[in-house]
Amino acid sequence: MKTAVQTKGYAAPSVNAPLVPFAFERRELRPHDVGIEIKFCGICHSDIHQARDEWGGSIFPMVPGHEIAGIVSDVGSQVTKYKVGDRVGVGCMVDSDRTCDACRRGLEQYCSGGNVVTYNGLDKDGAPTYGGYSDRIVVDENFVLRIPDSLPLDAAAPLLCAGITTYSPLRHWNAGPGKKVAIVGMGGLGHVGVKLAHALGAEVTVLSQTLSKQADGKRFGADHYYATSDPQTFAKLAGTFDLIVNTVSAELDWNAYLALLKLDGALVVVGAPSNPIPVAAFSLIAGRKTLAGSGIGGIKETQEMLDFCAEHGIVCDIETIPIQQVNEAYDRVLASDVRYRFVIDMESLSAPA
Ligand code: NAP
Ligand code: ZN
Repeated sequence: MKTAVQTKGYAAPSVNAPLVPFAFERRELRPHDVGIEIKFCGICHSDIHQARDEWGGSIFPMVPGHEIAGIVSDVGSQVTKYKVGDRVGVGCMVDSDRTCDACRRGLEQYCSGGNVVTYNGLDKDGAPTYGGYSDRIVVDENFVLRIPDSLPLDAAAPLLCAGITTYSPLRHWNAGPGKKVAIVGMGGLGHVGVKLAHALGAEVTVLSQTLSKQADGKRFGADHYYATSDPQTFAKLAGTFDLIVNTVSAELDWNAYLALLKLDGALVVVGAPSNPIPVAAFSLIAGRKTLAGSGIGGIKETQEMLDFCAEHGIVCDIETIPIQQVNEAYDRVLASDVRYRFVIDMESLSAPA
């Protein structure tokens, strides 16, 4: 019989508190569950927003982490999609109502019954969900992704959030040949967004605060690179883009960015600062512009993204750290001092404290 398994991880015990070692249990495998030995987990800026309760409603203790890559260690009696030893990933969701219109369309991220998020959420049985800063996770097979053999697990881990969060709007708004696409903010999400938009065939511009990462941007596939701290940038690029994907985690001058769109262009918000977005009516009316949002991506599209990355040789640029350095890493993400995603090597969990 399968039993609950003791799990080691790191948790934020309360709002704003540094993360510390935390022991807890993962549930027994249900018939459709997959047990995963976590090898790597990316640090997403959303982990920091939530550990600091910047979006409200955070649940503590919190084990963050929704960019999970690992190996299947055990499977429930009725699992058909995975077997022990498979290379798998888990992203931002571990369940949904599976019956609403959104779920039936493969858009579980917009589940009207409310999906179950990988951490800082409540499972259907009311238990708090704990994320990937841990050595094991148990997930229904329908919410597990297959990581293609050609993608290394460490550099693929951030694709489970940063990758799909940029891939989904790029696909939805048809980034491709003949389209001018800007990515605002070249951090964790932004740097993958540049690679994906380039691979999709779009003409890609990075709008970053400074030119300090310009060489990297070009290496990722950007055709152009501008500093948003230079007012000339906004004058020069007025009316240029079909699509702007904004990955910035802080407030922006939204009207200034809307002015960079051409007729019928769309500014898509994926970065999630806590304050409301102030937008003038005429910033939208002039040029029939769209201001839209986009949340991660559905399970089917996440698998499509992973397969697309394998086909195009796309992975994240990462800095691997032991879990003992997680608090320092958070400070560096907040200072935009990461090239371009921190990934925790979960083997460090077994190291002496
Ligand atoms: P990140 O690695 O910190 O990247 C954010 C980038 O924004 C920074 O690298 C920086 O790029 C730019 N930036 C930071 N502070 C800025 C400021 N004050 N003004 C202008 N630009 C600034 O964060 P991330 O992990 O990519 O996440 C980005 C945002 O997306 C977060 O808010 C996160 O919660 C959100 N998110 C949303 C979804 C979704 O489903 N919609 C999913 C995942 C994450 P430059 O140095 O190039 O300017
Ligand atoms: Zn994320």
